[in-house]
Amino acid sequence: MIGYVSKVFFHTLAASQSLKRLASRYGMRDDRSFARRFIAGETIEEAIVVVRAIEASGLLHTLDLLGESVHTMAEADAATRAYLATMDRVVAAGVGRGLSLKLTQLGLTIDRATCVDNLRRILDRAGADDFFVRVDMENSSYTQVTLDVFETMWQQGYRNAGIVLQSYLRRTPKDAERMIELGASVRLVKGAYQEPKRIAYQRKSEVDAAFVEIMQLLVGRGTRTAIATHDRVMIDATRRFATSRGVSPDAFEFQMLYGIRRDLQAQLRDAGYRVRVYVPFGREWFPYFMRRLGERPANVTFVIRGLLSEGRS
Ligand SMILES: Cc1cc2nc3c(=O)[nH]c(=O)nc-3n(C[C@H](O)[C@H](O)[C@H](O)COP(=O)(O)OP(=O)(O)OC[C@H]3O[C@@H](n4cnc5c(N)ncnc54)[C@H](O)[C@@H]3O)c2cc1C
Repeated sequence: MIGYVSKVFFHTLAASQSLKRLASRYGMRDDRSFARRFIAGETIEEAIVVVRAIEASGLLHTLDLLGESVHTMAEADAATRAYLATMDRVVAAGVGRGLSLKLTQLGLTIDRATCVDNLRRILDRAGADDFFVRVDMENSSYTQVTLDVFETMWQQGYRNAGIVLQSYLRRTPKDAERMIELGASVRLVKGAYQEPKRIAYQRKSEVDAAFVEIMQLLVGRGTRTAIATHDRVMIDATRRFATSRGVSPDAFEFQMLYGIRRDLQAQLRDAGYRVRVYVPFGREWFPYFMRRLGERPANVTFVIRGLLSEGRS
């Protein structure tokens, strides 16, 4: 219940323009500013420095150019071109080739056909340069259309892409069955948005039970699965299940967000698992940042500490 209240509170704050202006002024100002705990930087150059360090520590990564819900075709086109430019920089830097993106960033709310065209531009380039593109899952108003767009691309032969499923949605076991049928790679998460009871579990115990059930479905049926969570109980359940079924550690991977549970990332790496860090960067970091605060209100204390020290500097 506290989790739900905190999500509602932080999602409401995320809509505040004045808070966004205040945070934007201080959050990324220098290397010690508070938003840098979760955001790799505002530019691709800063993000590349971060992913080099991640690679040096034996971890994998996926880059997310932050931005969501653009409102014009021009903005959707600009976001698409920004992704293409990011790919240029990644290739030139010689770092790992993984991207995560949101369909609303590519124009899904304006016009589905435009969004599909933009996604195709990115996937064509991804195919040519051996990138893997993960389509993030947004709030439930986009679940079906995101799955539909993903499946359209899949049926057209784009295999260098994967999808995300959220265990808090009651519909997800059925969607997981469909992705298993297709043979598509799935990232399993609990779900980051505030959703109504009718369609989504509200209690942590229910979301967790669904997570384990869907993990077993995906890993047990040989899907290329990314278990994306910082929850040790979910991680241990996955390890036990894989061992009991004789699934080799390189048949799936764990994923965590940049700046969260680095200790656990290192432990899993040392135990021989593939661990991928989701690395967000870009100027539009505020909504992402607020979702991270909503997941763990204790994070607010370091923001307040950061703001107070900014005020003194
Ligand atoms: C790689 C990756 C990609 C994701 N992609 C999507 C997506 O496409 N769509 C989507 O809806 N959601 C996505 N998420 C977010 C996800 O849905 C959850 O909101 C988020 O991971 C928190 O849930 P949890 O599984 O870590 O478990 P929780 O039960 O929330 O947390 C378990 C433990 O993890 C730690 N923890 C969790 N969150 C934080 C935090 N913000 N700060 C500090 N510690 C924390 C704490 O120790 C906590 O006790 C993604 C998550 C990851 C890791």
